[in-house]
Amino acid sequence: MTFELAGIGAAPGIAIATAVVLEPTRMEIPEYGISPAEVEREENRLRLALALAREELLRVREAIPKDAPQDTRLFIDAHLLMLDDPALRERPLRMIREQGRNAAWALHQERERLAEIFQRMEDPYLRAKREDVLQVTDRVLRHLLGAGAPNLAAAERIIVANELSPADTVLLKNGSVLGWVTDFGAATSHSAILARSLGLPAVVGTHLATRLLRSGDQLVVDGDQGTVLVNPDPALLEEYRRAQERRQRRLQLLEEERDLPAVTRDGTAVRLLANIELPEDLEWVQRSSAEGIGLFRSEFLFMNRADSPSEEEQYQAFARVLEGLSGAEVTIRTVDVGADKLLADSDLQLHPGGLNPALGLRGLRLCLRRPDWFRRHLRALLRASALAPVRIMLPMVSTVAEVVQARQMIHQLRQELQAEGHAVARDLPIGIMVEVPAVAMAAHCFTKVADFFSIGTNDLTQYALAVDRGDDDVMALFDPLHVGVLSMIQHTIAAGHAAGIPVTMCGEMAANPRWTPLLLGLGLREFSMFPGAIPEVKASIRRCELKEANALALHALMGDGSLLMEPSDQG
Ligand code: PEP
Ligand code: MG
Repeated sequence: MTFELAGIGAAPGIAIATAVVLEPTRMEIPEYGISPAEVEREENRLRLALALAREELLRVREAIPKDAPQDTRLFIDAHLLMLDDPALRERPLRMIREQGRNAAWALHQERERLAEIFQRMEDPYLRAKREDVLQVTDRVLRHLLGAGAPNLAAAERIIVANELSPADTVLLKNGSVLGWVTDFGAATSHSAILARSLGLPAVVGTHLATRLLRSGDQLVVDGDQGTVLVNPDPALLEEYRRAQERRQRRLQLLEEERDLPAVTRDGTAVRLLANIELPEDLEWVQRSSAEGIGLFRSEFLFMNRADSPSEEEQYQAFARVLEGLSGAEVTIRTVDVGADKLLADSDLQLHPGGLNPALGLRGLRLCLRRPDWFRRHLRALLRASALAPVRIMLPMVSTVAEVVQARQMIHQLRQELQAEGHAVARDLPIGIMVEVPAVAMAAHCFTKVADFFSIGTNDLTQYALAVDRGDDDVMALFDPLHVGVLSMIQHTIAAGHAAGIPVTMCGEMAANPRWTPLLLGLGLREFSMFPGAIPEVKASIRRCELKEANALALHALMGDGSLLMEPSDQG
């Protein structure tokens, strides 16, 4: 049956492929009695399902690309170990025998029992293992129910999930996923940002995807319109294929303009930089015309692993990025975890369920609270600074005192490292993310302690408008064009420039070519975005006349957003 699901377009483009539904908790688990004569057959069905799940995991492991991070393999190995654990089969086998019940029901009972045990664990790392238990047992259940295992080794698939965490999404980098669809989430969540940087069309906030879709359904994910077409008829499918080709041709045309300079029609030069999450993203940066990296979200080095990387491991990761960019400037943001970006490292003692994680121990606040852990991170960063031009950027800054404290730590560590014989760059700018409204309003005070500003419009908009950036229920209110937000952006740019310090924007707003003229009009001259967005933004800059951009910004600051709307928005 053909039908359409509506959601929020989180990453542009069209993906056409079969679905793999990762939320199997909604599988209908039948419960029925079996006769003593059927016991052996039922036991064998369970054993066979376990064996099939095992084979499937081995195939997935083989399909992992050689250059994928070690963690990806460890993740699969952990599931294999769980699957081989006799405890997983013994109880269900006993239930089949002693209670005369079907295998799927017996395994499901065990699934729930184990999930509850893990849920009650105090150690957050062990508690997080609950998800693994669910995933492993669901894999077996799918075989038992003949739902057909998703072919994870298949070349083309679209992931359908309840929600994807940033850690899940980063794992997709290693696969051959073509797109994804979720029940929850919003376009500015970290997972959506990752999808865009991967170039994967994504639709989030459908509310119903995992309930209505089945693995094997053919899907068309339209990340521009925010729709998912399910099992379309051949004519419709053909239409989408043609749209996909048109998009491809447009990207190719832009690619041909790759080496043209980013200057407005009246000759104002603009710096275009790239945002990255992992050293693996370098390939994208090298293919783009980015002049350097404006935001390296270093926290992704800490995800999908049980502990934090050592100083040496962090240093190697930074070195890989710096060496890969042959001398271009790289802005490395110190770890920004907390809120929706959680780590398994129990040493960090993050409280994910804290009163309000987005307003709690996050970013620099957490780092300053865990100085030993932060020191290790900063030492790696300082050592890497000797290799190529680096800027250090502090996230989630609220006060001047926090910046001073971080700078003092960096200063002490520089001396410590030099005493140990390590080289550290002499010129190492230390700047801040401007993403807390009060910091934007007081930007003129922060110029005394920050060597540069980078405006994080994702969080700035979230905090200024009191709208959770990951909650699709309030997404309509998430508006970076709100006069309040625009005024803060303008004030930050003006304060930075008046003090002679560079101002970049690295939030998603910078990646939207529709808003490029407005940002130029507000005075912005440095944009940082996922590499895939650079061609369109550059084209927008090259079409722009600064005089018109200034007028546009003036109108927008007075609350007249009509000039910023597309004809279709105006109805
Ligand atoms: C921002 O908040 O705009 C930003 C760039 O940081 P992140 O999206 O990683 O929170
Ligand atoms: Mg932020």
